[in-house]
Amino acid sequence: MESRPSIGEAADRIQKTCSLGDEVSCLRYVTENRAEALGRLGISRVSDLLVHVPHRYLDFSSETSIAYTTIGTDVTIRAKVEKITVKHPRPRMSIVEVEAVDATGVMTAVFFRQPWVAQQLHEGDEVAFSGTMTFAYGFHQMKAPFFEVITTESEKMKSHAKILPVHPATEGISPAWMRRIISAALADQGDVLDWLPARLVASRGFMTFARALREVHFPSSMAAAEKARRRLAYDELLCLQMALLARRTFECRGDTPFVHTIDGPKKRALLAALPFELTEEQRAAAHDILHDMAAPEIMNRLLLGDVGTGKTVVAALALAAVADSGTQAAMMAPTSVLAKQYAEKIGPLLTAADIPWALVTGSTPAAERTGIENRLATGAISVIFGTSALLSEGINFRQLTLIVIDEQHRFGVKQRQELLVKSSRMPHLLAMTATPIPRSLQLTVFGELDISTIDELPSGRKPIKTQIWAPTNIENLYDSVEIEVSKGRQVYIICSLIDDNPDNDTKSVEIEYRKLRSTIFNHRRVAMLHGKMKPDEKDKIMNDFSVHKIDILISTTVVEVGVNIPNATIMIIENADKFGLSQLHQLRGRVGRGEDQSYCHLIMSDHSKPSQRLREIEKSNDGFYLAEVDLKLRGPGEIYGKSQHGALDLRIASIGDTKMVER
Ligand code: ADP
Ligand code: MG
Repeated sequence: MESRPSIGEAADRIQKTCSLGDEVSCLRYVTENRAEALGRLGISRVSDLLVHVPHRYLDFSSETSIAYTTIGTDVTIRAKVEKITVKHPRPRMSIVEVEAVDATGVMTAVFFRQPWVAQQLHEGDEVAFSGTMTFAYGFHQMKAPFFEVITTESEKMKSHAKILPVHPATEGISPAWMRRIISAALADQGDVLDWLPARLVASRGFMTFARALREVHFPSSMAAAEKARRRLAYDELLCLQMALLARRTFECRGDTPFVHTIDGPKKRALLAALPFELTEEQRAAAHDILHDMAAPEIMNRLLLGDVGTGKTVVAALALAAVADSGTQAAMMAPTSVLAKQYAEKIGPLLTAADIPWALVTGSTPAAERTGIENRLATGAISVIFGTSALLSEGINFRQLTLIVIDEQHRFGVKQRQELLVKSSRMPHLLAMTATPIPRSLQLTVFGELDISTIDELPSGRKPIKTQIWAPTNIENLYDSVEIEVSKGRQVYIICSLIDDNPDNDTKSVEIEYRKLRSTIFNHRRVAMLHGKMKPDEKDKIMNDFSVHKIDILISTTVVEVGVNIPNATIMIIENADKFGLSQLHQLRGRVGRGEDQSYCHLIMSDHSKPSQRLREIEKSNDGFYLAEVDLKLRGPGEIYGKSQHGALDLRIASIGDTKMVER
């Protein structure tokens, strides 16, 4: 713990703390050009620079000599470059071999596909190589080690610290300059106050903020560097959580929510009209939601449940509570197919409970639409289903108190803002998704939402049987498909391309459609569906499939979200190895929605052995588990896309660090 500062020291630290927001150009060594280069790294203020943490360290405390290195350990070696050889065994393949010696022996550093290494190193250079030492062909060898030419500057650094930081650099600022700039910034401005309460810092055993900044850049030991990083990661996650909370508070600021009647006659009538019993988890989720709708705070709830867990009926209960309260609800879906499906599924339940409702999509005829608009404005309609057509100008409510948004959680908050202008006060928000966000990410990614989860499938469902196929066995597969179709079942075949791409082996909807309908399935009703078709064409195909005018639907992934056709029991996915696990699982969820046994067939692109990743989906039907596997194998950026969410732009912390997030 640092001792209590004098008044003069405190004033100095306050001043430094206040300067954290200053532009980097006020710092020593930061010329105009360098400020611009820093800008490219997203560094514009002093604080940005101070948390521009090293991506690795050259640990001279683990420095050894070549001959004394234990094979297989991570070490730093200081050696002189003797010879640099560049080889080109194949076009576009380069190998740079650097031979280096120290007083005890010879090692080679090998770099694949990094031809620029040959320019960065010169014979005679004294270089620190950092990496795992291996032994190959009778030589000590490091594959693609990290290296740094030892200059007087790094030598100097080494004389007072055994560990040299390497910061992400950019054109115009070398790692050596980055060190110099950061070192000067820490000396001049680094002695800042802690923004966490001292008691928290002490109880968590954290370093102080100022010390963490020093140790993360110029650590006294690798353990101190790690400790500093954890402190800063905590700060970063805390900031993120506070920003999410602030956003939520700001959005709902000053608004008193409408307090709903949650156990009225219409809700009870709807429950009585259900052809099944709710599962325990559906009941719990409905309880959460209804409770929120009657609470003195505006609801921001996400209903998270794997495909087929029955989220729709839970939403229907919330809609009924709105009707019981004499107000209005809007339920929005990303596509007109889905919006219609709600109307078809929930509509009859609402009607049974005497709740007036309507559906509006882009293709609703003008006259009908005007009628609906009028009845919405007077409050004669309680529940409206629709697409983003609901956001258009003519749609106005008498009193909108609930918005339900499915499969578009990312836009939910924004769409509510747009719908807000149509209502006198902030409506409650219920977002729903089957996108299996791994549990370890939920807290961060959905920080501004409360979450209800449905994990269990309604009873009586048989788990989907999943099998991986080599492309040559497809005839056998078609035989078994034919048997199911002759029993009256329906089939999806998913291809990733719409039309053909001559120089690869990826199947396309159009080619498969033409092939299958003219050969093996020429006696069956085959249709195709893809994103280039017109919306009403797509709607017609989906409708025909749902009323069984089509046996086999060949489609791109447009059927991925939310479609519910219980009689479809076979899902065939071509080039399955090219999809992410979560997406395969979503596609698989289109089947297994009825009482009959369903099957999912994953067809490989070629004869290579199925990856361990693909094997996981054969073994598991748990979307959250699969998302977790995907996350580990591919990282969050791959799966959720960059910059879709602030949580993915963390510099120091990792959103997968569940324990830290929970803290
Ligand atoms: P999702 O969560 O994927 O949106 P749905 O709401 O479409 O799932 O429900 C899938 C199917 O399960 C629907 O056909 C629905 O009628 C049925 N279902 C929902 N809840 C139950 C239940 N408790 N018991 C039996 N079937 C149910
Ligand atoms: Mg659904």
